[in-house]
Amino acid sequence: MSAYSLRHYGEDTHRLSDPHVIVEHYTETRTAQEAWDTFAPDVPDNEFHELPNTCAHFLVEGDGRIDQLVPLTERCRHTTGLNWTAIGIENVGLSDGEILSDRAQMRASLALTRWLQCRYRIALRNVIGHNESLSSPYHHDRVPAFQHQTHSDWNRTDMNRYRALLARLPCPAGTD
Ligand SMILES: [Zn+2]
Repeated sequence: MSAYSLRHYGEDTHRLSDPHVIVEHYTETRTAQEAWDTFAPDVPDNEFHELPNTCAHFLVEGDGRIDQLVPLTERCRHTTGLNWTAIGIENVGLSDGEILSDRAQMRASLALTRWLQCRYRIALRNVIGHNESLSSPYHHDRVPAFQHQTHSDWNRTDMNRYRALLARLPCPAGTD
């Protein structure tokens, strides 16, 4: 990850410090196991064929179970242009709409995101969907092929719904 950060951000470090952004994703899989099987092997990713493999800090399942895959002090590859400063949350499912309509999953996803947002003092506008990555003020990448690259997961309309729900939650005790 240090080598990736040096190539893409000009920073020779794998450490995530003072994160400014939280990015919501969905796995495009039915199960957490399938997502894990994508992330776990130490091989180049299948889109850019680059190391380290893609990953996310958290997986949120349909029943509300949350698995942490990567420590919050480490960078990982989930959003081109933002991996230097973004925490990644993968919601297990096949579409924004499917996750938005799953009450248990949404309760867990929102509670996790709110806790992270309060703990790191991340503004609501910096809780974004992967599809909103290019308009983030924190987005940058030194590699031209990566500068306009994003994915379709969590568009603005669905993230506006997500952010509206998030804004109603209080900060959990101990995060203020
Ligand atoms: Zn994504």
